[in-house]
Amino acid sequence: MTQTHEPLSDTAVALEAVRARYRAERDKRIRPDGTEQYAFVTEGKLSRYGADPWTPEVAERPARHDVVDLTIIGAGFGGLLAGAFARKAGIEKIRYIDVAGDFGGTWYWNRYPGLTCDVESYLYLPMLEEIGTKPSRKFAPGEEIRQHALAIAERFDLRRDTLFQTEVTSLRWNDDEERWEVETSRDDSFASRYVLISSGPFQRPKLPRIPGIESFEGHAFHTSRWDYAYTGGDHTGGLDGLADKRVAVVGTGATGLQVVPEVAKYAKELFVVQRTPSAIDVRGDAPTDDEWWNSLKPGWQRRRRDNWIDFVHGMGADENIVGGAWTDLATVRGMRRLVETGFASDPALTMELADYEKMEELRQRVVDLVDDSETAAALQPWYRQMCKRPGFSDHYLQVFNQPNVSLVDTDGRGIDSFTPEGFVVDGVEHQVDVIIFATGYELNFDAATRAGVDIRGRGGVSLTERWSDGMRTLHGWVAREFPNLLQMGLLQNAFSFNFTHVLEDQAEHIGAVLAESEHRGDVLIEPTEEAENEWVAVIHGQDTAGLEFQAECTPSYTNEEGKPSRAEAYTAGPTAFRQLLADWWANGGLEQVLTPKGATRA
Ligand code: NAP
Repeated sequence: MTQTHEPLSDTAVALEAVRARYRAERDKRIRPDGTEQYAFVTEGKLSRYGADPWTPEVAERPARHDVVDLTIIGAGFGGLLAGAFARKAGIEKIRYIDVAGDFGGTWYWNRYPGLTCDVESYLYLPMLEEIGTKPSRKFAPGEEIRQHALAIAERFDLRRDTLFQTEVTSLRWNDDEERWEVETSRDDSFASRYVLISSGPFQRPKLPRIPGIESFEGHAFHTSRWDYAYTGGDHTGGLDGLADKRVAVVGTGATGLQVVPEVAKYAKELFVVQRTPSAIDVRGDAPTDDEWWNSLKPGWQRRRRDNWIDFVHGMGADENIVGGAWTDLATVRGMRRLVETGFASDPALTMELADYEKMEELRQRVVDLVDDSETAAALQPWYRQMCKRPGFSDHYLQVFNQPNVSLVDTDGRGIDSFTPEGFVVDGVEHQVDVIIFATGYELNFDAATRAGVDIRGRGGVSLTERWSDGMRTLHGWVAREFPNLLQMGLLQNAFSFNFTHVLEDQAEHIGAVLAESEHRGDVLIEPTEEAENEWVAVIHGQDTAGLEFQAECTPSYTNEEGKPSRAEAYTAGPTAFRQLLADWWANGGLEQVLTPKGATRA
């Protein structure tokens, strides 16, 4: 879209007004307790919220006391992709550990009705060509995605050695044997030449610490542990158990947007409890077109993914192959305008104007789709689009036209308290039979703590202590003094909304290093001090515009509830990061991470 974007006086006035409104909305939502406002489903009486509905029985198995080649902690897509590329690198004994009862990660836990991927399935589902899966729809249902995860496990024979329903309790490097010693909650105690952590950013479901939450006498559960025994039906719908129930869904983020339209179909009465409205763009789902699918040429997925990532996160693509709302984010519009004008205009203002225009469109969309003007006004988002994870739905907003659905807008404050019969907002008690918490997850990128265990490297050094002044890695996946400990994730690494794309790139990179390590046989994977220092300097030397942007935002998990700390992602984007790694390989970077056994890394 080509337009002129001179700050005309009326636009400037509107912009000033909107800035003031955004600030007021942010200030209204800032809470002194920040991230402390949440409790976790592992805590005390709340631990019932964390129980595994999919594999309720703990399967008996003998404890392991052996030696394996590679232990992978986390059996979601990251771990599966790492296992696939490790197999390709010739690694034989691969052992998985996960607290879940099977492979799938977030797709194991989340099976709520209405669940689909939010990024197009042709992009999101990794290894589509290799595995031969054909997604049924542009946005495939969660169960189909879970089945695809299982198919990857099958294809690469990753089920051979799995310790599910198991937590790692200790991870220690043995300096003499030069291998890891792993202990678990199921009395396993074994050795592993390599350990890879891929435990995902959203591990622990969270609940708001609202007074009285434990006193509610009705039924309650978190969306990541959907209770079909109570609601009836399954992931395809049929929630007939709700036909005579008054239901509250708390939370209107990406999960709430998918759950609410399904629950609205079945509940006698539905209260949607909102603190901050999502900014909701068009989704545009459709069944997979057979003719198009059959016309795809080998290598299509890589080309499609690269095009999307270049278009959404950078400026490397001229043609928009994928289309859809992700490729029309405010940031994408702004960046493209900067390119079109040769960066001649004021970059910050250009981005802000593109954002203003986009958010006006999304606010208008609410008015167009919601009949009641008061409800529509309450559903309008007042912040810049990237302040929150962008939302997409073609059904959510229309739900508020149904007679059985009410919006309980808390005007940024959230629920005041729970009572035995329901919840209170603004002094008014709403009595319900069941509360469904779509209140999200703790965001935890930090490998030092997210494995849930204090990791000890060379000489017993603790990863938590070593990183007490900040994370230190080379390219996010290896750290000095922690040989053969490989980490997957988004910190000090590339970030993309198509998370599986960056995970697959990481897995491929790690697999290639593993292959070389195995080939040489007498080396460990550990970066030089110089390489690690240089990379940390790159990360810390990045401009802080993102941080300043987040500080102006309404609170959410993306800005640590209004108190953003230093960004650890590689902000130049995934395309630049991939080029950086390609150059690293071409320029002998491998020597920075392969160190002779028996030596302490200089
Ligand atoms: P979320 O984005 O963290 O949303 C939590 C919701 O709970 C927010 O609307 C929040 O309001 C609300 N909330 C929290 N405390 C409250 C209180 N005291 N009273 C009332 N409301 C309260 O969680 P999510 O929707 O589960 O999504 C988390 C992330 O998972 C997403 O951003 C996305 O990355 C991923 N996800 C992806 C998909 C997909 O791709 N299909 C689907 C679901 C989730 P505030 O906004 O005011 O904090």
